[in-house]
Amino acid sequence: MDIEKYKKDSENFLSRIEKEYYLHFSGQKDSLNLSDIYNEYDSLFLIENFNFFKDLKDKSLGEDKKRASYLLKFYTECYLERQVKDLVDKMAEEEAKAVIEIEGEKVPFRYSEVLLSNEPNRKKRDFIEYKRNQKVAQSFNINLIKYWKTVHKHACDLGFSSYRELFSFLKDEDFNRLESEMEKLLSKTRDLYEKNFGHLLKKELGIGLEESKRSDFSFFKRAKKYDIFFKKGCLIDLFRETLSGMGIDLDKQSNIYLDVEERKNKSPRAFCCTVCIPQEIYLVVMPTGGQDDYEAMFHEGGHAQHFASTKSSLEFEYRFLGDNAVTEGYAFCLEHLMQNKSWLVDMLRMDPAAADEFVYFSNTIKLWFCRRYAAKLKYELKLQDGTDIEGKDGLYSEILTSSNLMEWPSENYLKDVDEAFYCTNYIRAWIFEAQLNDYMLNNFGYSWYKKKKAGDFLRELWSYGQKYNVQEILSQLGYKGLNINYLIDQLVNGVAGGK
Ligand SMILES: [Zn+2]
Repeated sequence: MDIEKYKKDSENFLSRIEKEYYLHFSGQKDSLNLSDIYNEYDSLFLIENFNFFKDLKDKSLGEDKKRASYLLKFYTECYLERQVKDLVDKMAEEEAKAVIEIEGEKVPFRYSEVLLSNEPNRKKRDFIEYKRNQKVAQSFNINLIKYWKTVHKHACDLGFSSYRELFSFLKDEDFNRLESEMEKLLSKTRDLYEKNFGHLLKKELGIGLEESKRSDFSFFKRAKKYDIFFKKGCLIDLFRETLSGMGIDLDKQSNIYLDVEERKNKSPRAFCCTVCIPQEIYLVVMPTGGQDDYEAMFHEGGHAQHFASTKSSLEFEYRFLGDNAVTEGYAFCLEHLMQNKSWLVDMLRMDPAAADEFVYFSNTIKLWFCRRYAAKLKYELKLQDGTDIEGKDGLYSEILTSSNLMEWPSENYLKDVDEAFYCTNYIRAWIFEAQLNDYMLNNFGYSWYKKKKAGDFLRELWSYGQKYNVQEILSQLGYKGLNINYLIDQLVNGVAGGK
C-alpha cells in the first residue's frame, strides 16, 4: 500500500465529511448525505486494510507505531460506519422529519428538546418527555437495533469478542480501570451531590430529588433566572474579548469562519467543524442567550482555537486523528471559565454575590454531568460486551437512575450511546482539564484569562494538534499521567466551597 496516498485520500475524505456536517447542521443543506462520500472513497475502507494497519502497528516502534495506531483506529471506525452508512443517513433524515403532537400542535422532534427545557409547568414537561420517549421507542429503536447489531457483528468479524474489546484495543485504554476510577468519583461525591443538587432542585423548582425526573433536569439546567447576565447579543463579543485578554485576536484568525447567521434549520447548539486543519475551521453559532448557550459557545470555541492553532507542518495523523480527549480537554478549559468567579465579575460584570451563586450552580451542574458519564460508561460497557443488546433498556434506566438519583426513562437505551466509546474521551478530558487547570492556576493565577503568557502557553499546547495524548501532555507539564483525584477535588471544592 502507498501510505502517503492513503493519508492524502483520507484527509480529503474527512474534509468532505466535515463540510457535509457543516452544511447540514448550519441549515444550508436539508439532507445529510454521507453515503455518497463513503462510496467515493470506498477503496480506503477495504477489509484487508485492517490487517495491513494492524501489522504495521505491531511491527513499528516509537513515533511510527503511534502513527500506525492512529491510522488503524481511524480506518476501523470508518470501516464500521461504512457498513451502516445508508442506515445512518436514513436515521438522520427520519429524526429531522419526525414530529410529535403537543397540545394539538405538531412539533419537530429535535425542537421539542428546546421546548422541554423552557417549560416551567411540570405536567407539561412530563407530557413532552412522554411523547419524545414514545417516538424513540416506536420509531427510532427499530433502526437503532439494526445499527448496533450490524456494527457488533462486524467488530466480531475483525477477530474480537465484542465491540468493547475492539475499542479497548484501538484506543489502548483499560476501560475497567477507568470504570473503577469513576466508581470512586461516584462514591466520593454521593453525599455532596445528594445534598447540594437536591437543595438547588428544591430551591429552584420546588421538587425533591427523591421525586425528580430526568426531564426536570432539562428545565433546571436552562436556568432562565441567569439570562440577564447571558444575553443573546453579547455572546460573540464576550468570546472575542476573553481571547483578546489572552493575546489572541479572533478577527485576525482568518482560518476560523465564524458563522453567526440566523437560519431556519440551523442547530441551536454551537458546534465546530474542522474541514481543513488548520486552514478551514468553522465555528457555528446561533446565539439564543442563557448560561447553557454561553457554555456551549466557549466549549466549541475551545475546539476551534485548538485546531486553528495546530501547526500545518504536522502530519495528517497528528492534525486530524489521535486522542480526542486532548481537544475535549482544551474545549473544557475555556468552558471552565463559566465556573471562574473573577471572569464572571470582570467580563460579565456580575456582582460578587451573584457570581458566587452562579459558580455554585454551575459547579453543581458539572458534578451532575460527571456522575452521568460515570453511569454512561458503566452501562455502555455492559451494552457492548458481546451479549445481546435487546432487553437492556431496564439496565440502562437502573444504572442512570442510581447515579443521578432522578427517575430515568428507559427508551433511550440505544440512542443515548456514544459511538466508539467517545464517552471515555469526555471522562479523560475532564480529568486532564482539572490537572491542566491546576497547572495554569499555579503558573498564571486565578485570572489567567487576562494574561498573554497564559494565551501563549495554550497556543503552544494547541500547536501540537493531537500528536501527544493527554497522559503525555501531563507528563510534559510535570504530572504523573492522569489522576482522577484532581477532578474529584475540583468538584468537591467547587460545590462544597461554593455554597
Ligand atoms: Zn467537544
